[in-house]
Amino acid sequence: MGTIPSTHAMTEDDTDEIDLQVLRAKYAKERERRLRPDANTQYHRTSGAFGYYAKDPYTPRTEREPLTDTVEVLVVGGGFGGLLTGARLRQVGVESIRMLDEAGDFGGTWYWNRYPGIHCDIESYSYMPLLEEVGTVPQWRYAPGEEIRRHAVAIAKTFGLYRDTVFHTRVTDLEWDEATDEWVVSTDRGDRMRARFVITSSGTLTQPKLPGIPGIESFQGHTFHTSRWDYDYTGGDQEGGLTGLADKKVAVVGTGATGVQVVPHLGQDAKHLYVFQRTPSSVDVRDNRPTDPDWAASLRPGWQRERMENFLAIVSGEQVDNDLTQDGWTSTAHLQRKMITGAVDTSLPPHERELREELDDARKMNRIRARVDQIVDDPATAELLKPWYRYMCKRPCFSDHYLQTFNRENVTLVDTADHGGITRMTEDAVVVGDTEYPVDCVIFATGFDVGVSGVVSGTMPVRGRGGQSLLDSWRHGPRTLHGFYSDGFPNLFQLGSLQNANAVNFTNILLEQAEHIAAVIAEGIKTGARAIEPTSKAVEEWGRTIRENALDNAAFQAECTPGYYNREGAGGTGGTSYGPGPVAFHRMLAHWRKTRIHEVLVKD
Ligand code: NDP
Repeated sequence: MGTIPSTHAMTEDDTDEIDLQVLRAKYAKERERRLRPDANTQYHRTSGAFGYYAKDPYTPRTEREPLTDTVEVLVVGGGFGGLLTGARLRQVGVESIRMLDEAGDFGGTWYWNRYPGIHCDIESYSYMPLLEEVGTVPQWRYAPGEEIRRHAVAIAKTFGLYRDTVFHTRVTDLEWDEATDEWVVSTDRGDRMRARFVITSSGTLTQPKLPGIPGIESFQGHTFHTSRWDYDYTGGDQEGGLTGLADKKVAVVGTGATGVQVVPHLGQDAKHLYVFQRTPSSVDVRDNRPTDPDWAASLRPGWQRERMENFLAIVSGEQVDNDLTQDGWTSTAHLQRKMITGAVDTSLPPHERELREELDDARKMNRIRARVDQIVDDPATAELLKPWYRYMCKRPCFSDHYLQTFNRENVTLVDTADHGGITRMTEDAVVVGDTEYPVDCVIFATGFDVGVSGVVSGTMPVRGRGGQSLLDSWRHGPRTLHGFYSDGFPNLFQLGSLQNANAVNFTNILLEQAEHIAAVIAEGIKTGARAIEPTSKAVEEWGRTIRENALDNAAFQAECTPGYYNREGAGGTGGTSYGPGPVAFHRMLAHWRKTRIHEVLVKD
């Protein structure tokens, strides 16, 4: 492991007794305990035999005739990415827009996830986009899911995006028609519609996944995934009151960001709750509070953009005088650098910087572990709830109710780490090792398949010029300019972090992407361009830029506890976004729009 310099030589304020050697060994041991050789293949997709788990419980599907008409722009995805793009396109004068989504309404993540306790982890004043344009201020500092979902609907109404929209519709094929310079869009509703431009914003954490627990299909009690909450069974709503569980023994599987939010309500209302944990989350203070009406009244035009940019700059490692948000994200910005690309503090030699970060990380995690001891009464339970890994190995969580729930008589924590998760399920029980836990209901808070987008995962096959498949064109790696478009695939844009920017406040990234795409399309229309498409040279140069500036977090991720951040321990995913970070990326894009936009406009 090498020599570790004295921590006291490094920092004047370090009064903690932190032995990094011991801590690293403990982290490695915990990682080893959790590691499974089957990595990502340990999960079931919620399709085929498990399709029940992905069905829409919120909106009945209505039959309609297949569509064969033509629109100017078709946007795949009605979450914030699609909505923001639709809004900005309207503002640059595009009238003919069709939105399309598999869900029954707008909202994306917030359409599907309606579990009790759902809130946004990012401050709502920065997270909920277009607040000023819709004319609202969130009611809470961290908004409940329903408020966010309604805000998505309000954006759609404000910008007239319900017009021409089709829901409960999945694109099955995108094909460029060279004769008409249009995309032919086929769907699972038998549509064959046409569009001059297609924009895909199909999200990254959309398809619920299930653990591949032996016997999972034999369970005869009630069961569902948190992203398809069954209120008919549980009673209540997102604020709780789950009266249907008063006489039920309930199992919840998973203690990630979703599990942490849902457990307090289940603990409150179930007759008995078993929480099946494999890796504990880090759970810090939430400190949610209603919006101060005087503060809301004092806000001046442009306040949201200023707040979003301030937050983005801080979490991207930029030097900022004033922290407008002051929360668990901004105070740990330097610890997030390992996962999210951004500016690097070059005032220290790399080795010293790494060591300083590791010590800060250890202090942060010590405080999080100490908080468990302060809150949880039973020492054995407290021990099991302590996270042993570096701060950004897993998504940080915030709650003022989660740990407290384990002090309830009717709540049992079942640690499954030594068994790599739940051992098996029977007709009426969840089994860990040799112990059976008979339950009436199993709720899976087990997260989502992590895909880059339907385009990249191949669930939305794309054929461009000359019938070439996009996946084939990308067989040696993604080929894009700035992440948006690819050579050989005219008038096709995608949103997402691939070869683009990434940040914890992803709606900020989506807003910049929407504005960029709208500006490029508007310029194309204004100048009478035949198509919008980057040259092969531009695409190759951008690929080189991405590679040369890639964040090297492989060593960090290799030591992390397994999870979707490091492909279940298989290795890092660094290098897919713009290394210098979102602030630098947005600055570069603004300059490109002023000076080089003509390079993607195809004249004939
Ligand atoms: P995660 O993938 O983060 O968590 C899944 C959970 O299921 C983990 O605790 C995992 O354990 C557990 N699990 C998986 N398989 C088994 C098994 N066989 N036995 C026992 N446990 C198992 O999903 P979430 O839905 O919690 O969160 C996904 C993402 O969604 C978050 O990271 C975040 O980005 C976002 N989110 C944001 C929220 C917000 O902003 N408020 C709220 C909720 C989610 P293990 O850790 O060991 O793999």
